[in-house]
Formats: sequence, C-alpha cells, structure tokens
Amino acid sequence: MQKYDVAIFGAGIVGAFIFDTLTLKGLKCVLIDKGEDVCLGASKANSGIIHAGYDCARDTLKAKFNVLGNKMYPEIAKRLGEPIGECGSLVVGDKDSLLILTELLNRGMYNGVKNLEILDRSGLEKLEKNLNKNIAYGLYAKDAKIISPYHFTIALVEESLLNGGEIKLNYNVNSIQRQNDGYLISDGKENFMANYIVNACAEGVNEIGSLVGEPAIPLTYTKGEYVLLDKDEFGLACRPIFPTPTKNSKGILACPTVNGNTFFGPTAEDIKEYETSVTLSGINKIKTSILKMIDNVNFKRIIKLYAGVRVKTGDDFYINFNENKNYFVIAGICSPGLSAAPAIAEYVANSLIEKGLQVKAIKFTPRRPYTNILKLSNQELSNLIKKDKNYGDIVCNCEKVTKGEILEVLNRTPFKLTTDGIKRRLRVTMGRCQGSFCYPRLIKIMADYYNCDEKEICFRGKESLIVCDIKEGGIYAE
Ligand SMILES: Cc1cc2nc3c(=O)[nH]c(=O)nc-3n(C[C@H](O)[C@H](O)[C@H](O)COP(=O)(O)OP(=O)(O)OC[C@H]3O[C@@H](n4cnc5c(N)ncnc54)[C@H](O)[C@@H]3O)c2cc1C
Repeated sequence: MQKYDVAIFGAGIVGAFIFDTLTLKGLKCVLIDKGEDVCLGASKANSGIIHAGYDCARDTLKAKFNVLGNKMYPEIAKRLGEPIGECGSLVVGDKDSLLILTELLNRGMYNGVKNLEILDRSGLEKLEKNLNKNIAYGLYAKDAKIISPYHFTIALVEESLLNGGEIKLNYNVNSIQRQNDGYLISDGKENFMANYIVNACAEGVNEIGSLVGEPAIPLTYTKGEYVLLDKDEFGLACRPIFPTPTKNSKGILACPTVNGNTFFGPTAEDIKEYETSVTLSGINKIKTSILKMIDNVNFKRIIKLYAGVRVKTGDDFYINFNENKNYFVIAGICSPGLSAAPAIAEYVANSLIEKGLQVKAIKFTPRRPYTNILKLSNQELSNLIKKDKNYGDIVCNCEKVTKGEILEVLNRTPFKLTTDGIKRRLRVTMGRCQGSFCYPRLIKIMADYYNCDEKEICFRGKESLIVCDIKEGGIYAE
C-alpha cells in the first residue's frame, strides 16, 4: 500500500503552500481534496492582496504570519513565474480620519511593518487620480502587493507535482485509523497510509477532525460579495484603496487585479451556512461605499458578480500541532490568510522536521508558466504559430486565449478539468462576454481532447453539466 510522510487535506492556498514547502524539502506528500480541482474554496474568491500587516491586532498569529508571508511572496512569485504587483496599498479617509490612520500606522510599526507613511491630499493625488473630494488623508503601505490567488494555488500544486508530490481529488475520506505504523486513510475505494496528517480544510475542518477523534472547532462564516469591472475601467484604482476600517471589517475596497481588471468589494455579511450567492443588497452596499471614495465610476461596466466566504474561529488563526497524534490543524484562516500562507507553511514544515521528519535534498524541477500569447513579441508569436498553428487560433476573443494555450493546459494537468478549471488557469470565459462567444468552442476542444461526448464536459462538479439534449417540446418536456 502507498505510504506518505504527510497527508495534507484541503487544496486551498494554505494546503497548497504546505504541500509545496514539504515536497521541496524532500518529504513524500499527498494533497487530498474532496473537490474535482484545487482551489475551489475561499482561495479562489478573495481580494488577492498580500497585505502589509498593519491591520492585524498586536501579538496575534495573524500579525506574525502576515508580516513574514508578505516578505516571502516576491521570491516565490519569481520561482513560480507568476505575476505579482508591487503596488502598495492605501487606507483613505476624510478630514476626521487622521486618528484612526495614525493608530493603524502605530500598530503596523509594532507588528514589524516597514515603509508605512501617512499622506495628505496632495501626496494622495500623486498616487491616485480618482479619489473623491472628501478624501483628505491616507495611510500608504508600500509593501502591500497584489497577486492572482487561484493562479498561485494552481502553480504551487503544479510545482509540487513536478517535484514528487501526489494528489488525490474527488476523494471523500470516510475513515482515518491510527495504527502502529501511521494512519490508514480510506474513502471506501482507495486506501493509503501516512505518518502525519495536516488538516487545512477550512469549512470542512471538522469533517477530518472528527475522523481523527478531535473535538469540533466552532466555526463562523462571513460572506464577501464582489463586482468585477470590464478591463476598459482599469486604472480607476492603481492599488488597493480601502476606506478607514470598522471593528468588523477592512471595508469595501477598490482594487486592480494583476490581469488588468478592477473590482470592488467585499461586503461582510455574517451567514449561518457556507454559501456564495450574490444579492442585490450586496451590490447596492458596494455602490454606496465605493462612491464615497472613488469618482468617475461607471457601474454599467460590471461584467461579473461573485462571492467568497471567510471561515473564522474566534479573532485569530487557530494553528495547533497535536504531537501525540501526529496531527496538525490549521483552522479559521480568514483574512489575511492568503498573505500569511507561505509563512504558515514554513512553520508547519519546521514543526514536523523538529518532530523527526527527515529533510532530503531533491533535484529541483522548475515549473514552467503557461504560454500567454499576449506576453510574446510578434516575432516570438509568429515562430510559435509556425511550430503549432493552434497558437494562432483564438478561442476566447475577450481575453485573447488560443486553442494552443488550452491544449497546453489540458496536456499538463494530470486530472480531468472542468470549464471553470480552464477559466481559472487561462481566463477563457472570464472577459467581457463571460463566455457567450467562446463556451461552445471550449466545450468542443475539451470533449475532443478527453475523447468524450460534449454532454460530459462540466462547468464545475459532476452535477453541473452544460450541454443537454433538447427534446421535442423544449428541454423540460417529459
Ligand atoms: C471575501 C474574502 C476576501 C479576502 N481577501 C483576502 C486578501 O485580500 N488577502 C488575504 O491575505 N486574505 C484574504 N482573504 C482570506 C483568504 O482568502 C483565506 O484566508 C484563504 O483563502 C484560506 O485558504 P484555505 O486554504 O485555508 O481555505 P480554502 O481555499 O477554502 O480551501 C479549503 C479546501 O479544503 C477542501 N475541503 C473541505 N473539506 C474537505 C474534506 N472533508 N476533505 C478534503 N478536502 C476538503 C475544500 O474543497 C477546499 O479546496 C479573503 C477571504 C475572503 C472570503
């Protein structure tokens, strides 16, 4: 039976960082998720900001791991070939905001954040052109950055798989038994062994915890809704712009993405159960908040609404290593979890190594970023098309993605992708038309590649089929 040093449950940004960090240290690891792809939870629907760390309460795990993680990102981005926007961030406010901004600056300095500065209106105008006239002051955090959180998660998993890591998707574990020589893990169909278990399942943390015999961790959920604007609105905000925060939230921000869009959000609504619907009241809250901060906004340019859920337990992250059980749990990783994830992964790795896991040198295989024709010179593109004409065949007109790029991703991904999986990797269907133009072609390319019927290509899980037969009398006919 297959035996691993570490089984990591949960393929969000936290699980992916732990998987990659441990694999690169030569440990034999498996990443397990109940979903059909990686990055299906909060890690795909957040603001993508690598916070500087001024916002976290003093002496918390959030503050410690955020500040450390922020410093780690640029080098990791370079290694993975992923874009990172080193644009800084602003918290802005009216003439009465100076006290709160100073409090944030002092907290940041206490947390170890460098390069913080309070700017007056003239300083702000040098950075941003669309600030509302009531904005008088701003806290400029030069070290804040932006990334694509789903690209990063996918890239980390790819790097780990290239370097010896293994993955099990659609794996619904139903038994975890401690034996003399490690844990026996089973979903009723496939069994394997692992010496250590790392539980990074966010909203599913207690599903794994209960199988290991751990008491339930109380969880609460806060939903954040967003609106995404068309690329022609890029530049409305040149960096994340936050309002002055309240006790419960950093507030609704305006933010660019590394792919050239602008988004507004998130709202912060406490919900009883994990769900990601978008609501009219959410959109209206976003509009009201943004207009207090930013001028020249054209809400007619909204192309997409979406939501993500922060899973919390208390006010801080909950990170606990039960050394007797060889069981690590990382729970309540709400914001700034994306920023903190690389540092959390280092901490988990160091704890496991101190406990006795042996680091081994590996022959590192670098991950190659996906081809992006928009980043090629005319000469490079022309050479590429000469080698493979599929790179001259545009499928997604809005984002300019070719059949060659889609086939490349299908070829290098060791599991069956959904259309949503292709979207997160290549941005196909993510542009102005949201797939109206390219969906039929994308489905056809995927069906041909997987040698299956177009009806078997899913949007997300198995329940989300896209193509169906239209019967006489319409699709609802008996
Ligand atoms: C609206 C919003 C905005 C945010 N903005 C920022 C930001 O700008 N900067 C920042 O630093 N942080 C931000 N965050 C926080 C950040 O998104 C999270 O901290 C981070 O994504 C959490 O990652 P995760 O891996 O713990 O969880 P997830 O990404 O939710 O991953 C958990 C994984 O576990 C899997 N899983 C669940 N149950 C099981 C099971 N039983 N078996 C196997 N797998 C299971 C799920 O399928 C999922 O893939 C934001 C969060 C939200 C919601």
